[in-house]
This record gives sequence, C-alpha cells and structure tokens, in this order.
Amino acid sequence: MRKLRVAAFYPHPDDMESQVAGTLLKYVEQGHEVHVIIAMDGRRGRGHLPDNVSWSEIVELRQQEAIAGAKYLGVTPKFLGIEDHRLLEDRTCYETVITEMENLNPDVIFTCAPNDYHNDHRALSRLVINVSWTPVFFSDTKAGVDFNPDFYVDITKQLPTKMKMLMEHSSQMKEDSAEALTTLNRLRGIQCSRSDIVYAEAFKLYKRANWVKAYELLPDDNFEPPIQIVPTLEKN
Ligand SMILES: [Zn+2]
Repeated sequence: MRKLRVAAFYPHPDDMESQVAGTLLKYVEQGHEVHVIIAMDGRRGRGHLPDNVSWSEIVELRQQEAIAGAKYLGVTPKFLGIEDHRLLEDRTCYETVITEMENLNPDVIFTCAPNDYHNDHRALSRLVINVSWTPVFFSDTKAGVDFNPDFYVDITKQLPTKMKMLMEHSSQMKEDSAEALTTLNRLRGIQCSRSDIVYAEAFKLYKRANWVKAYELLPDDNFEPPIQIVPTLEKN
C-alpha cells in the first residue's frame, strides 16, 4: 500500500479525538503521514471551567489539551485560530483554510459531516469540501444522528488509546462522554457483522463526479470490504 498523506480538518479541540482518532491511530501504525488541523480556538467550550476563567485562558488550556491528545498520534496539531462561531464562508476564513489545504496537498481528507449537530462543524465541513480536490470522508455525527455510513474502519484494537486521547480534554469531558462514544463505536462495530470487529468508526464519502477506489484510501484492514450499503429488496 502506498504511503498516504492524511489530513484531518476538525473544528474544535476534542473533535478529532471524538470522531476519527481510532482511524488516525491505525494510519499511523501502518506508516502513513497524519496531519491534524484544528480550525477554531475553542473559546466557547467552557466545559466545567468556572465563569471567571477568561476566553484567552480557555483557548490556551484547550490548545494544551489538544497537543496532549495528538501526542498519541506522534503529531502536533496545527491551530488555525479562527474564533468559535466565527467560521463563515467569507474571504478570510476561506483563505485560511485553503492555504492550509494547499500547503498539505493531502491524498485523503477527513472532516465533520455537513449535517453534524454544531454550527461550527457544519461550516467547516462546507468549507473543506469547497477548498479540496482530493477525496473527503465525513466522520460520524454526534450520536450517529441522521448518518448512514458508506465505510467502516475496525478500531477494536485502537479504542482504548482513543479513549485516553479523549480524556486529555479534561476541561470538556463529562462522565458520560466516553460512554456515549464507546456506545456509538460499538453500534458501528455491530453493523460490520463480524464477530472480531467489536468497535468501528463509520464514514461517508463525499460524492463528486468521478469514482475513486475509496477503500484504498482507508487504513488497510486486511479484510474484504464488508458491507454494501444498499437497501435490500423484500420478496413478496
Ligand atoms: Zn466541536
């Protein structure tokens, strides 16, 4: 398998860990080059922090948490520093994101689904597909809401490390955060219909005009592409 340059464009510190960390760990294990780009500064994510903590202190803390999380991938995230809730399809944001995209020139891109629950997630998703020319995979929505996957990556072995990465974001994580994500990854594992796949991350490929061999862009799982996601016909 050729060495891929993988770019994960995610809005806030902690989104990469929640949505794609297991798959990125697998890419790293298989010798691919992984880049993590965090578009927004995370200032609105007060989490458990008291009201007297300033926005600039929150930004600093969340950067440190993101650096600690990404260490498990052996990378340092690139922070684009766009203020939370201020990611718009305007010239400035467009230039910021496209410059990063041009610098990286990735083979494959991961970002949020365009219907994810948060306005910043939806805005970044639109921007990424508008400034990219290589295949884009959308990662699962929060709680899997309105997300019908095309592809699955087995993260059974990677799940414990993914959870450690997530817990580095201690200012944000609630007791049930890890449980909710583990449950979603378990559901996706069940959908693979393979007893050895306990946990999986699920993705949709952004459809453009030309077919791509999408499985060749995902980490090598050494199993047959398991599932054709098509409705089955009922006999009558
Ligand atoms: Zn987010």
